[in-house]
Amino acid sequence: MRVKCVICDSVEKINSNSPEAKRLRNRRIHTYLCPSCNDRIGERTKERHATGNFKLFKEKKSKDQLI
Ligand SMILES: [Zn+2]
Repeated sequence: MRVKCVICDSVEKINSNSPEAKRLRNRRIHTYLCPSCNDRIGERTKERHATGNFKLFKEKKSKDQLI
């Protein structure tokens, strides 16, 4: 089956019998990520865990105060 990456819109072919394809069919929302986007998100998640989760929230708050 053909699936579309939700981030970069690239279309990939995956095996229709693979667990991932079954999961995508069962869920109405298609949340397929191509391998490169998957890697990027995985890396970001790892980075966040390494540096602490709250950095992003702090940045947002200080921006709001400037406005
Ligand atoms: Zn992608």
